[in-house]
Amino acid sequence: MALVNENYLKLPEYYVFNEIEQKINAHKVIHPEANVIRLGQGDVSRPLPDAVIRAMQGAVAELADVKTFRGYGPETGYRFLIEKILKYDYQSRGVSLSADEIFISDGSKSDVGNIGHIFGRDNIIAITDPVYPVYENAAIMGGRSGYLNDDDLWSNIVYIPCTEKNGFVPQLPDEKVDIIYLCYPNNPTGIALTKEQLKMWVDYALENKAIIIYDGAYTAYIQEDNIPHSIYEIKGAKKCAIEIRSYSKTAGFTGLRCSYTVVPKDIIGYTMYGEVLRVNGLWNRRVTTYYNGTSYVVQRGAEAMYSKEGQKQYKEIIDYYMTNAAIIRSELTSLGLDVYGGVNSPNIWVKTPYKKDSWRFFQELLYDAEVVCIPGDGFGKLGAGFFRFTGFNSRENTEEAMRRFKKWMG
Ligand code: PLP
Repeated sequence: MALVNENYLKLPEYYVFNEIEQKINAHKVIHPEANVIRLGQGDVSRPLPDAVIRAMQGAVAELADVKTFRGYGPETGYRFLIEKILKYDYQSRGVSLSADEIFISDGSKSDVGNIGHIFGRDNIIAITDPVYPVYENAAIMGGRSGYLNDDDLWSNIVYIPCTEKNGFVPQLPDEKVDIIYLCYPNNPTGIALTKEQLKMWVDYALENKAIIIYDGAYTAYIQEDNIPHSIYEIKGAKKCAIEIRSYSKTAGFTGLRCSYTVVPKDIIGYTMYGEVLRVNGLWNRRVTTYYNGTSYVVQRGAEAMYSKEGQKQYKEIIDYYMTNAAIIRSELTSLGLDVYGGVNSPNIWVKTPYKKDSWRFFQELLYDAEVVCIPGDGFGKLGAGFFRFTGFNSRENTEEAMRRFKKWMG
């Protein structure tokens, strides 16, 4: 008799994005002529940079020739891409890392989930509320969340409130935690942490022998000077932080799939007997056992982003989305709404008017204006009373959605 992983049964019944799709589809069935604009979408809409396309075309041609054909590549990634990452993402910001600390992957969602595999089940995990829901879901599925308390919160998870009151900046917990998930610039609030704010967490992790999982999916959107692009810009972070970066939102790789995870060799973890282990070795073992490497063609595409041309092209795309975000910010602010984020991030976090429930607001906006937002409580309990818009749609759709929104709010 095959037993299943019963932790899967503990997952909440509904997943916000499925629920949203169902509601949009139902609306379209009743109104087949509906022109629904998704302004909450997490997916990008601009095509890949030309430099990326051309590099991949060259790589495909290599695979078509018996002399340059390649089969399995290195599980942890090709050296040509790792060297570009070291030089352009790290050395340029004063961070020195070595090639065997970088692990190329097929997207940060996989690594965000899989990283839990190398940690024990009894760690106390800290997750900000609200946040990208995958951290909590992965902890539950991996049997690391403990049991569900009467307040619907998990016993092994400490929820760090990010509210209007604290400017959505996470404050240190009173209790001791072991694994801390931080996502900055944040999804969904769009808030970025300054060096001082992030240093507080690095210092906490060092003092408490905790490890930070730092999700930098939106790093490329940072515009302001005092915002660190990597957690390793903070002294001591190489001893306590794993950084996960994605090409998805940076250059339109959401469908292509490429990301990387940095696991410095200085990070140590402990066995129950207090024996010291290098986390880098565990992750290396995990990757080389479970993964056969990101495709050669895709890694050549990612490498092209670091060329002069590639950098110029992807920065133009980021500017495009950030202009959309600025339009949304300014239109909503002019309506008197409380608007956050959208400055170092394409994510814009808005308080629902008249203290309306997030789901009710989502439905009214969909039915009356045919504009889609993401209800805030899909990102955690404290997201209630908020909704998320993003700058990822086209300029035309963003402007049209804003016209409809203003008319609707009228
Ligand atoms: N991390 C955050 C915070 C995200 O918002 C997303 C996607 O929306 C991901 C990770 C997943 O990115 P990827 O496409 O690299 O799997």
